[in-house]
Amino acid sequence: MSIIQENQQIDNIKVSQMMVSSEKVAHVQLNNPLEHALLVLVKSGYSAVPVLDSEYKLAGSISKTVILNEILGLERFEVERLSDIKVSDVMDKDEASIKETASFIDGLNAVINRPFICVTDEEGHFDGILTRRAILKELKKEYYTSKNK
Ligand code: AMP
Repeated sequence: MSIIQENQQIDNIKVSQMMVSSEKVAHVQLNNPLEHALLVLVKSGYSAVPVLDSEYKLAGSISKTVILNEILGLERFEVERLSDIKVSDVMDKDEASIKETASFIDGLNAVINRPFICVTDEEGHFDGILTRRAILKELKKEYYTSKNK
């Protein structure tokens, strides 16, 4: 029997208990220049961060790879272009999100094909992110708990 089938507790865990709340999440805004986005990405050490609009609603995400690809010239990176291009011009417009009230298994399914998923409220306001790390930590906890029963 799998850990999930064996242990009812994991079914009771909600996304709200595993997520990184918005104030701890590095993000950029739609109208920021790529220069700012690259700075945030390099300084934070993350490969991608959420993009929010002026009302703090989720608009997508932006990654180092997309930025570097955008300024890649024939023989060099054209870094001078970083200040002319806006985040909204090149970002990934995937607005997939999950609610705080969603279950553990919904969270797990959401991060199978992406490193994190944004958590939003009913109106699309950004509440935080759910990361693969958080899901894996919860699975690890459940694994050892069920082993020691
Ligand atoms: P992790 O599972 O912790 O490695 O996180 C997966 C991805 O989620 C990272 O590569 C980042 O793109 C994003 N991420 C995690 N924590 C944060 C954070 N505090 N701020 C912004 N993005 C984050």
